[in-house]
Amino acid sequence: MKLYEYEGKEIFSKFGIPIPQGILVNTGKEARQAAISIGKEVVVKSQILTGGRGKAGGIKVAKTPEDAEKIAQDILGMELQGYKVGSLLVEEKLDIANEMYMGITVDDKNGVPIAIISAKGGVEIEEVAQENPEEIASILIDPLYGIRSYEAINLVRQIGLTKEALTSASKILSQLYDLFASYDARMVEINPLVITNEGKMVAADSRCEIDDNSLFKHPEFKDLHIQRIENLWEREGVKGGVNYVDLEGNIAVMANGAGLTMSLLDVVKAGGGSPACFLDAGGGLSRERMKNSVGLLLKKARAEQRIKVILLMVRMMISPPDAVAEGIIEAIKEVEVETPIIAVIRGREPYETRARVLLKNVEKIILYSSVEDGIREAIEMAKE
Ligand code: GDP
Ligand code: MN
Repeated sequence: MKLYEYEGKEIFSKFGIPIPQGILVNTGKEARQAAISIGKEVVVKSQILTGGRGKAGGIKVAKTPEDAEKIAQDILGMELQGYKVGSLLVEEKLDIANEMYMGITVDDKNGVPIAIISAKGGVEIEEVAQENPEEIASILIDPLYGIRSYEAINLVRQIGLTKEALTSASKILSQLYDLFASYDARMVEINPLVITNEGKMVAADSRCEIDDNSLFKHPEFKDLHIQRIENLWEREGVKGGVNYVDLEGNIAVMANGAGLTMSLLDVVKAGGGSPACFLDAGGGLSRERMKNSVGLLLKKARAEQRIKVILLMVRMMISPPDAVAEGIIEAIKEVEVETPIIAVIRGREPYETRARVLLKNVEKIILYSSVEDGIREAIEMAKE
């Protein structure tokens, strides 16, 4: 889950990282008020969940409060890098002497956090890495110890900082690591980390991405996270407690267990079919999750003409058959749609027989016990 710049900066501030004085606004009038209360030149910054706003025209300097209002009116509602601008951060304008880069992310190769800094900030770090790799210094961090202060100091020294700048930057790096660890972030970035003409070090921008798998530890983000999922069906999936990924095909598939679902996608594809989604209803099925899963596919089929068939592949080893059958039946009752449903119901006995008995007379379901036949039929139906 990505955070907006202003949210990231609020957290920066909690961890002691200096940020510019700023006010979040939603209208031109509020932008003018904000500029008045800040009392000097301001920058008006569009709040969208991606970087590169500067280049795209989403960040402007306003000399007067009237300017700020005009700029705000221009930027609000604008479409920037595929995002609609809904709010702005009005901030005191910094007098920049120098722009640096500081970031921490997870190094996939080594499986530990990595801190990266550069004296060349304000541009994409990937660009610096390509063109001036010698300008970048990095260190792998042992998550058991965190970043030790001598490590932070040594790292910052490598990009040529001395005296107060060295002290400030290494302190900010330690604070940034604390934040990274406490929030279970995948990435935190200060770009640019600014040195002002008065020699102060300030985080002029923030990017934070929290690992979705850790959101249960951060309940304050739960609702926000759901709101920020852009794909409607993926949002439904998270709400329903199931794993859903939207795809482009015309066979809406579901299975229980990620491995079974992946295999099902492979087999459908190998057989000449095209899956419309990955939907793993999870192991140890409950009635609720079964209902949410089937309901999701039925709603998708109703909303999207291209879905020709729904294919359910349930394998019951520990999943109770009554819950499975009732979940399916309830979903069908709730969401009316003509799309045929093929259900391949397998499991250990007496589960399989029990589920089959419960589902036998459900009008809309075509029951299969053979996996091959069920998949073949679904692919056939999708061709018409
Ligand atoms: P991004 O383009 O989305 O990464 O947005 P940033 O917040 O990093 O802003 C882009 C650029 O705008 C920065 O690299 C700075 O050069 C400039 N900028 C941002 N804030 C200020 C400011 O307060 N004063 C000045 N002079 N420039 C700023
Ligand atoms: Mn930036």
